[in-house]
Amino acid sequence: MNFFSTTKTLGILGGGQLGKMLLYSTRKWDIKTKVLDPSESAPCRLATDIFVQGDLTDFQTVYDFGKDVDVLTIEIEKVNVNALEKLQQEGVTVYPQPQILKTIQNKCLQKKFYQDNNIPSASFEEFDSINALKEKVLKGDLSYPFVWKSAEMGYDGYGVSIVRSNKELEELNPGHCLIEEIVKFKKELSVIVCRRPQGEMVNYPVVESEFHPIANQVEYVLCPARISTKAAKNAVEIALKTAEAYGQIGLLAVELFLISDEEILVNEVAPRPHNSGHFTMEASYTCQFEQHLRAILDLPLGKTDSKTAGVMVNLVGADGYAGPVNYKNIDQILAIDGVIPHIYGKKETRPFRKMGHVTVINPELSIARRIAEKVKDILLVIAK
Ligand code: ADP
Repeated sequence: MNFFSTTKTLGILGGGQLGKMLLYSTRKWDIKTKVLDPSESAPCRLATDIFVQGDLTDFQTVYDFGKDVDVLTIEIEKVNVNALEKLQQEGVTVYPQPQILKTIQNKCLQKKFYQDNNIPSASFEEFDSINALKEKVLKGDLSYPFVWKSAEMGYDGYGVSIVRSNKELEELNPGHCLIEEIVKFKKELSVIVCRRPQGEMVNYPVVESEFHPIANQVEYVLCPARISTKAAKNAVEIALKTAEAYGQIGLLAVELFLISDEEILVNEVAPRPHNSGHFTMEASYTCQFEQHLRAILDLPLGKTDSKTAGVMVNLVGADGYAGPVNYKNIDQILAIDGVIPHIYGKKETRPFRKMGHVTVINPELSIARRIAEKVKDILLVIAK
């Protein structure tokens, strides 16, 4: 199927920043796109050929949207999978495959998948409701602290808590959940793998994430990760095994906990372009968005090597500000060599809302990391 300057259409579920950046690559190749998003001011709105406003979780909306596209992909996992299954049965090519999305949408199913496929992951226990969990604690069969994860509600850490007391247990959401042992990791790593329909796979170098101490959100992503060659080799091996086990077509971001050079656990995966791959836009030979397109359109995969070291800084709304956004001092960071800001186009800022990111490239990773911190200090995401 040839999508280059034809009427063939790529459908994208979700019109946020990941979709917007995917559209940079579809525009580069003159590929026709159609995007579905609930917000009339979605970041994708300006760059897509056809924009449809609608609920991504509604069966009929997703089905109607997907009926006339040739290939359908996602930029967010929370979409109606039943509609995707029906579309797939009716001949629409859907990548990632709906059954993979179904597993990933539910953290309990995802954890069982790792168990069934001998993929190392933190030990866990599933609970139908919070009451069942409380009962276990009351009986003395479970002691604090532990990690609680909502089965279906989470994103960016919102459905995850470390529970240390009865009071914290009382504050959790009521539904289906799991608990995990607290993993004492040295670093959080990520490997982005990309797989073509016939199984050919490539991977980007291992990256490490540094977290904001209060918001528990990723603040910096460094490529390459500052880990031993052995740890990097093991991380890549697990990531490839995971992508192979899922049979994923397109990108799969594999988030990992590094415990030691020999012991690495899979935390979770995302079957789409990922925040930990934004550095590829400037630091790699092939950016993750183009790579995803190559895979889902069954085209040769691009080289994943880095041209230079890179650090990505997430730009989130400053604490204490809500309202129309103001990127204060952005002119100052543009005066620094190798600093490339990306603004997602969300008009309103809120504390810790992802508003953009900045890539810092430099031949020396340590220098890039230092500049990244400077960028974070200078550029303020506040309200007007
Ligand atoms: P989300 O899907 O919302 O991103 P994650 O499962 O990735 O949630 O968890 C968010 C963060 O919580 C992780 O990046 C990690 O810092 C921490 N975390 C998750 N599971 C564990 C665990 N078992 N032990 C220690 N920390 C954990």
